[in-house]
Amino acid sequence: MKKPRAAGRSHRKKASSQDRGEQCGPSNSQAKLSAPDGLARQQEKVVLQASVSPYHLFKDTAEVKAFREGLLRWYDREKRDLPWRRLAESEVDGDRRAYAVWVSEVMLQQTQVATVIAYYSRWMQKWPTLQDLAGASIEVVEELGGHVPRTAETLQQLLPGVGRYTAGAIASIAFGQAVGVVDGNVVRVLCRVRAIGADPSSPHVSQKLWSLAQLLVDPARPGDFNQAAMDLGATVCTPQRPLCNQCPVQSLCRARQRVEGEQLSASRSLPPSPDVEECAPNTGQCQLCPPPTEPWDPTLGVVNFPRKASRKPPREECSAACVLEQPGALGGAQLLLVQRPGSGLLAGLWEFPSVSVSTEPSGQCQRQALLQELQKWAGPLPATHLQHLGEVGHTFSHIKLTYQVYGLTLEGQTPVATAPPGARWLTREEFHSAAVSTAMKKVFRVYEGQQPGTRKSFKRSRVSVSSSRKKPSRGQQVLDGFFQPLVHTDAPKLSGTAQ
Ligand code: SF4
Ligand SMILES: [Zn+2]
Repeated sequence: MKKPRAAGRSHRKKASSQDRGEQCGPSNSQAKLSAPDGLARQQEKVVLQASVSPYHLFKDTAEVKAFREGLLRWYDREKRDLPWRRLAESEVDGDRRAYAVWVSEVMLQQTQVATVIAYYSRWMQKWPTLQDLAGASIEVVEELGGHVPRTAETLQQLLPGVGRYTAGAIASIAFGQAVGVVDGNVVRVLCRVRAIGADPSSPHVSQKLWSLAQLLVDPARPGDFNQAAMDLGATVCTPQRPLCNQCPVQSLCRARQRVEGEQLSASRSLPPSPDVEECAPNTGQCQLCPPPTEPWDPTLGVVNFPRKASRKPPREECSAACVLEQPGALGGAQLLLVQRPGSGLLAGLWEFPSVSVSTEPSGQCQRQALLQELQKWAGPLPATHLQHLGEVGHTFSHIKLTYQVYGLTLEGQTPVATAPPGARWLTREEFHSAAVSTAMKKVFRVYEGQQPGTRKSFKRSRVSVSSSRKKPSRGQQVLDGFFQPLVHTDAPKLSGTAQ
């Protein structure tokens, strides 16, 4: 978990109308209240109305109210019974509520609800409160001042690693702050309900979606409203087969209206007539409509929304990594692993010593740079033993990384007993259960393929390591890593990302 730094304050205020400020708790009477933010709310409205066709907005407060009521009625009937929800509803202590929501939200960003339940229960057994978690760490309690911040703004400000979504989820669910949240499910629901066909990942559209979420959130039950919107996206307004007939906001959904209009025209054998309420289509003028190059496809129906985010191709990078092994070490062969920095790609995970290199394979400069890196951790080494073994590729979300794989075996030398801070000697068994990335496991497989007595040799050329065996998801691997006894002797981190 990223270290929190300070605490915020909470206070209570009664809600009275659609535009009132923040309101009482996580659907229970113990929730603390946060300050109203009427000005921000007004500004959101001004921004929305100034630059967007009314077609993509809600007509009036009655429409907003109908949306809230329909969604919350559905949620009260259909909500899933989840352990963190139970705790958020029944726990009197605000810090405990916030901690439970925080843990669950971070886990839900890694993997599916069904999988998270088991991890969440294990986590809460092991570290039931923030203090228990901090007890294994160094600075958390002092920096937090003993309390979790109470508002979305302070949560985001004071807890590194907590972004706008997680801060909003904690503030609304644990503290009853009327702040809207936007995750992937909410994006889909809002894009369909308001016929937003422009790229939702673009800053302009994203800002509009956050504004809509803020406008819609129910000030009386903000935590329930946000969870209901996310549940709706997860269970009814699903990506491929939305169940519009079961949808509590169907009557307000522009995507659905459009489909029904087309069906009506078809049943009367009429050409599709322009909907009087439709936004000016195909002119390229509206920033929330699909671009003219991607017109409405009648065969897709409501699934026309949202538009798939345009993805940049991953950039190509190259790294040289070396498996340094001392076979004769006390207790069996050992491998040198070093820990990655606490932020950025693969933060905090362990890897074989490596250096970024140009894409030229196995050049002299590459060997020298790698040798220097190795010596930084393990002292003087026999350069002639450094062998290039092959290469292996791994694609992260935004980087396509090729590893030039080297091996260096310290045979006939006195085993190195210690490693400097940030490095460890691990046995092969320990390596397999440690918090290492998938990419490093691929590197190790190339190395193993070159060792006598291990699995059959890999070719020296590019190695394919794909497997037909179903692997746990990336997020699951991350969560598994927190329960590994070996590497996490320090504070467990919620923010690690194994890819
Ligand atoms: S009516 Fe259909 S498309 Fe519209 S929000 Fe409901 S499930 Fe989604
Ligand atoms: Zn439009």
